[in-house]
Amino acid sequence: MVCHSFIYLDFDRKSTFTCGTCGSKNQPFHDIVVKERLWRHLDFWQYKSFIHAPLPRVKCGKCEKQDLSNVKKVAIDETSSKRGHQYVSLVVDIEKRNVIYVIE
Ligand SMILES: [Zn+2]
Repeated sequence: MVCHSFIYLDFDRKSTFTCGTCGSKNQPFHDIVVKERLWRHLDFWQYKSFIHAPLPRVKCGKCEKQDLSNVKKVAIDETSSKRGHQYVSLVVDIEKRNVIYVIE
């Protein structure tokens, strides 16, 4: 018999976060990029464990003024936000390894 453990996380919408692009701390919450991201966690005892959580995006004051003129190479990656039901595309600056745009 295979048993699973599912852990659901959420956050206060008044929270602040570190900007994933430039690293600025205490940036206000803007919206949710992915409503339910799934991560595989180490097993708890004999249970296969999974963590479900939304991915927040911040409204970063520094990145609003982001200068993209130095971006030379980008990669576009599509990822599932909810097991095959919803996709988002990420545009990433390959050299700086920054997400520069999210397309829902
Ligand atoms: Zn930023």
